[in-house]
This record gives sequence, C-alpha cells and structure tokens, in this order.
Amino acid sequence: MKVCIHRGTQEVGGTCIEIESGGKRIVLDVGLPLDAESSKRHLPKVKGFRKPDDSLLAVVLSHPHQDHYGLSRYLPPEIQMIVGAAAERILKASALFTPTGAVFKHVLHLAHGKRLDIGPFAITPYLNDHSAYDAYSLLIESGRHRLFYSGDFRGHGRKSASFERFLKYPPSDVDVLLMEGTTIGRSGSAAPFQTEQELEQDFVEHIRKTKGMALVWTSGQNIDRLVTIYKAAKRSGRQLIMDMYTAEILRETGNPNLPQGTWDGVRVFLPDSQKQQVKKNGQYELTKSYSSVRIYPEDLAYEASRSVMLFRPSMSRDVERAGCLNGARLIYSLWRGYLKQEKQRPFLEWLAKHDIPLVHCHTSGHASPQDLQRYAKAIGPKMLVPIHSFETKRFKEYFDNVEMKQDGQWWEVTSG
Ligand SMILES: [Zn+2]
Repeated sequence: MKVCIHRGTQEVGGTCIEIESGGKRIVLDVGLPLDAESSKRHLPKVKGFRKPDDSLLAVVLSHPHQDHYGLSRYLPPEIQMIVGAAAERILKASALFTPTGAVFKHVLHLAHGKRLDIGPFAITPYLNDHSAYDAYSLLIESGRHRLFYSGDFRGHGRKSASFERFLKYPPSDVDVLLMEGTTIGRSGSAAPFQTEQELEQDFVEHIRKTKGMALVWTSGQNIDRLVTIYKAAKRSGRQLIMDMYTAEILRETGNPNLPQGTWDGVRVFLPDSQKQQVKKNGQYELTKSYSSVRIYPEDLAYEASRSVMLFRPSMSRDVERAGCLNGARLIYSLWRGYLKQEKQRPFLEWLAKHDIPLVHCHTSGHASPQDLQRYAKAIGPKMLVPIHSFETKRFKEYFDNVEMKQDGQWWEVTSG
C-alpha cells in the first residue's frame, strides 16, 4: 500500500489523500483549502480527477465540511463517491441554498463499524465526535497493511461518550496513523477545552443579559452547537428563530431527537437571500412545509425580547429593516480567528453603528492536545504522520513515532 498526501501535511484544510494498492486507488477527502476561492484549478493532480480513470475506484468523504469535500463538485460525475448517508443529505440540502453544497450521482454510504470492500481495499468507518454531523475516521486495510485516518474529531462534544469508547476499544495493529492536529500549537490550548454542556451555561448567561434580540452567529452545519443554542434558549424562556436553510439541515439529519424547525418553541425565518434562492429553484413545497411556524419580518421587533435568533452577516439588512435591533446582542459562536479577517471589517462596523455588543461563546470542533495524546496512545501506531495542522513540525513534542511527510510525496506503508 502506497500513500500520497496531496494536501494537508502543512495546513488545516484542503485535505486530500491518495492510496494505491495493486494498481488500484482510492482517495480520502477532496477539500477546499481554507482561504481559497472555490475553483477547479485547486483540484489535486490525481489520475481520474479530470477525466474518468478505471484505476480510481472511489473517493471517500470523511465528513461534510468544505475543507474535506469542497472540491468534489469538480470531479467527473461518474466517480463512485462514499460518504455518510446523513452527510450526503446535508450536502444536497445545502446545495439548494448555497453554491457550496454537493449532489452526487453514484454514492455508497459510510456507517459506523460497517466494512466496505472496494477492490483491494477494506474500509471500516468509526463515527467521530466532531462539529460536523455524520463524521468518520477510517480504517483502510489492504493485504496485511493497516492505515488509520483520524478525519476531524474531538472528545469534548455531545458525542464524547463515543470518543471514550473508541479509546477503550481502538483498532489494533495500526501501521500508519494519519492524525489531525488542528489545535497543536494554538495559544491557550494547555487548558482543558470547554465541553458543549459547559458552553450551554455560558449561552444562558449571555441570553439572560440581553434586553432585546439575542443574535447568534454560528455555522448552520454545527449540529452540536445548534442543540446547545436550542437548549440555552429554552432554559432562558425564549423561542429559537432559525433560518430555513438551518431548519432544512436539521431535517435532513434524519435524527428525530435533534431540534426541528417544526418543534414547539422554534420559529422559521426566511431571509431575503434564501427567499431569492427558493424562487430561483421553485422550491415552494419547502416554504409550505414550514408555513405554520414561519415568522415574518414585521413580527421580529415585537418578538425580539423573547427570542434567540440564528444569524449571519448576510442577514444584516433583514434585521435592520425589521427594526428589531434595540437592545440586541451578538453572540459569536465560531472560531475567533475568522473575525480578524479583513473581509469581516464592514460587519464589525455595522455592529458598532447599531450599538450591538459582541460576545464570544465557542468551543473548538477539534480535540485538545491532551485528547490527541490520549488518542495516539490508545492506537499506538508504528508510524504517526501529522496532517490537518499548521504546526505539524511540533507533533514530535507531543507524540511518539512521528514521521513528517511532504505534500505530493509518495511513500510506502510497511508493517515494520
Ligand atoms: Zn477539517
């Protein structure tokens, strides 16, 4: 078995790993690099990515985050895709509202513990605790070689129990572990990471301090966080207003235990940009399915003090026109680094203009260095190859048997 990490040995995002055995190949993830515009020219140089090639058997997507699937829409439609069933539905639903979704022609599904045999490869998925829904790590076996790809994961989310179970019963005899290390070298990462449950309490306190509308900017695809916000709103005696895109993502998880747009205490809002999308795609059935829970712009001001509203900068004009910003507060629930980007400046100015204070309320979607150490130790690979980190050079300070690789370099998996 031979491996080439096309992208990811020096960076978070844009992950793409090609694996070859007996002349057949599979690819794990086709991510969009973090700061890149979506464009076909970023597609890694893999045989079969530009025109079909029989030796490329499948492309596996570990989870529905852009830095892992973002370039998949540029692949020839004939390619066999492998992705979680809920992840596939989420990508399809996103495609209705944003240009960043994805719809595939030939799909096989990843499911926890269910082995897939693809040519000379056996692929066994393990469900991950991560900020993306339906996220997996993957055991890839071919002949006597065993490679384990961690995907993206954490141990402090709402599926922390499955993380602990994994540490108890990890895959054995792993020759190579490709492990993410997003949080390696990040300042402040020595302290234990806040759990989603702890974060819920912070949300409650911020909401209680808010006189008017509590606006929450988070990712509509961070399902753990949506649960946290729903619970915090409920505990604060407020309804949760979600946009139709987010309501659709939650519906497409197919998980009836997750908050839904149609639940008591939830209302669904259609921002102007989404209204245009619905019109363009003729998706009137969709809006109809939320008609009993819709909240309209003219109601927002009246409902402000008893609402928590999911929000993103593209909705600024909607809430401004609705006149619902008196006493509002913005709870920012994403990575702090995004706010420092130049392109966010107009939004920060908009907040200042409306006297809206911003508070940060977030915990990482990625494992803390301590949990990464527990994970690497539990698996005990013969070789640990760093991936999905800006500080891959520092892995040696934290883990045993580390071997750095370069983007585009082919190397052999040996059973040592
Ligand atoms: Zn990632």
